[in-house]
Amino acid sequence: MSAIAANLQAVRARIAQAARAAGRSPDSVTLLAVSKTKPLDDVLAAVAAGQLAFGENYVQEGVEKVLATAVDRRLDWHFIGPLQSNKTRAVAEHFSWVHSVDRRKIAERLSEQRPAGLPPLNVCVQVNVSGEASKSGCRPDEAQALCQAVADLPGLRLRGLMAIPEPVDDPVLQRLPFRRLRELADQIRAAGLPLDTLSIGMTHDLEAAIAEGATIVRVGTAIFGERDYT
Ligand SMILES: *Cc1c(COP(=O)(O)O)cnc(C)c1O
Repeated sequence: MSAIAANLQAVRARIAQAARAAGRSPDSVTLLAVSKTKPLDDVLAAVAAGQLAFGENYVQEGVEKVLATAVDRRLDWHFIGPLQSNKTRAVAEHFSWVHSVDRRKIAERLSEQRPAGLPPLNVCVQVNVSGEASKSGCRPDEAQALCQAVADLPGLRLRGLMAIPEPVDDPVLQRLPFRRLRELADQIRAAGLPLDTLSIGMTHDLEAAIAEGATIVRVGTAIFGERDYT
């Protein structure tokens, strides 16, 4: 078994255990393998081990991997990184999800640029639940209006909320921002918007995220190893 296959097995076991501990079915949590900075061969090793959903942060790198794997129609590519308005077209054309929509202008461009032959782009609104410590994501009090804007755009399909809280080690403290996001999703749902996705949890906090209702966990390091940015 490849190292990546073994890592995937271990991550799937963590997810299943966390789900059962929360009284949830392991199937209710989708594992998104975050392959940013990693070579195509690592993606292919994960595919060989049954992993089909991948997340990328950088537009050019992501599009290259999408194109290089396009023959395999089972793969599902999610854009999860910060998105500038001059890069929206490539994302609208090549990905099936975007988790990082944090302003109306980006949503409008993605909708306009989504090719007519493709299904609507699945969208999560990214919310800044850690206050000033983080720069990306809309404010919690802006999330409902942005969700409404996404729901009204024909090229987009509103799916849910995403957050990247400040990293902390204490598993009890890890849950607080996730809980805030879950409660915000409940409020937005109560206002009539259909949210079925909470995109929360990474290598160091996926258990806390699953305890608070994560439906997608985005995991890089535990699958592919440490990233080298040099
Ligand atoms: C890099 C990244 C991840 C994966 O982080 P790990 O700690 O390596 O699991 C998840 N989500 C986003 C938005 C990321 O940028």
